[in-house]
Amino acid sequence: MIVEAVEIRVVDIPLKQPFRTSQSIQHSRRALLARVITDAAEGWADVNVEDEPIFGHEFLSATWAALEELLVPQLLAGPASAPLAAARMSRVVGHPAAKAGLEMALLDAELRASGMSLRRYLGGTRDRVPVGVSVGITDTLAELLTTVTEYVDEGYPRIKLKVQPGWDREPIAAVRAEFGAELALQVDGNGAYSSADLLHVSGWDEFGLEMIEQPFPAHDLLSHARLDARISTPVCLDESIGSATEAAAAIASGACRVVNIKPGRVGGYLEARRIHDVCDALSVPVWCGGMLESGVGRAANLALASLPNFRFPGDISATSRYFAEDICPPFVLHDGMLDVPDKPGIGVDVDPDVLDRFTSRRLLQ
Ligand code: MG
Repeated sequence: MIVEAVEIRVVDIPLKQPFRTSQSIQHSRRALLARVITDAAEGWADVNVEDEPIFGHEFLSATWAALEELLVPQLLAGPASAPLAAARMSRVVGHPAAKAGLEMALLDAELRASGMSLRRYLGGTRDRVPVGVSVGITDTLAELLTTVTEYVDEGYPRIKLKVQPGWDREPIAAVRAEFGAELALQVDGNGAYSSADLLHVSGWDEFGLEMIEQPFPAHDLLSHARLDARISTPVCLDESIGSATEAAAAIASGACRVVNIKPGRVGGYLEARRIHDVCDALSVPVWCGGMLESGVGRAANLALASLPNFRFPGDISATSRYFAEDICPPFVLHDGMLDVPDKPGIGVDVDPDVLDRFTSRRLLQ
């Protein structure tokens, strides 16, 4: 297969409701898309970065430069298969989301050409997967309870609360009091706590959470291990895990009993599958995280989440939760589950008219 051209685009997908963080109000999800055009087929992928380097070091304009100057030339420079391209791109240090996007777009093209779905290629075993929802920090407890009630009523089988110092015990207790012990509830600290908060975080053990995700910074495996040794609630790592090697090391050091897998964070779907396999061999369950993907990224994540060791609902909410209109047909929630696409490649087709309408920047190499 010969890669003839690569296109990258910035698209602004309008959000149903503004998405509020402590620093900004977003009215659209600015996404970066990659299209790989080969002599046999073309493939698509989300390049999973945000406008600002808050989750990781990558951010949209830096990723654009890395793609344009370094990674797309690597893809165009030699034999085209996803593993070979991944090996060539590994000469560039860092930029895992950019590498993951190009690898996925090429893999999508390969699979479309051969008629195989991504789900089958990765070894997925399920037609439908349970999905959860991640609830951001709100101004008031009343607002939080209203939001959670809406999601529970929509049928989401698992709720995740974002927590930070000053917004943790009270909201967790309020949701538990309102919905009872049977609600599958977990929390995510996104590294906002320090080792000095160990006792405080240990106190959440009483809430019967499914897991406590990444309370301490990515580099601080020791505090995660100390926490995991103190409590019965499993500790889950997200930002700390950049590869299968790091997953094995974190598990061996006692820092986690669950791993969140995001292909963009770990450099691609092939590395994501290796993490799945390593964790499976060590009897550690995994689940699929999310970064407000367009339908293109959502389709690929559903294929990944259909592998057998994905034992918790993923952060792969229905499209309608965020977008008034998406660049491909919407994913709809049925009984707390989403269908896993099983057509060739990622299994969804981009609507070219919608795509053009949402595009704000484009480069064809
Ligand atoms: Mg997380």
